[in-house]
Amino acid sequence: MILINGDFNMEKITVETSRRTELVEITEKVSLLLKKKGIRDAILHIYVPHTTCGLAINENADPSVKRDIISRLGEVVPRDANYTHSEGNSDAHIKSVLTGCSLSIFVEDGLLRLGTWQGIFLCEFDGPRRREVWIKGAGLKE
Ligand code: ZN
Repeated sequence: MILINGDFNMEKITVETSRRTELVEITEKVSLLLKKKGIRDAILHIYVPHTTCGLAINENADPSVKRDIISRLGEVVPRDANYTHSEGNSDAHIKSVLTGCSLSIFVEDGLLRLGTWQGIFLCEFDGPRRREVWIKGAGLKE
């Protein structure tokens, strides 16, 4: 097998969340991983192996956007609503399904190809916890 720049085996980054529900930006951590691995051109697959958090790409400039997302998700999926799951965190499981647990992002010239106002967020719905984010790269030939 010939490895090309951009291919790398799975790396893990750790995110310590501090509230039950919050959006934690991880863009910088992902960028640092690219630098560490010397990745120039790739498709990154980013994944969380958890059932009560998720991933999202959204605005990283105005923090009120994060607050609005959290607030409205809480209205759509209230914490208590006669759920049957005995663990008491069904709202977190449902929000995890809504956000999803994976993302794909292009890397070009060593940079994440995000829009001007975009950042990558781990969406915590049942914290505080220590979360893992798994990242794997598939290289692109020129
Ligand atoms: Zn549960």
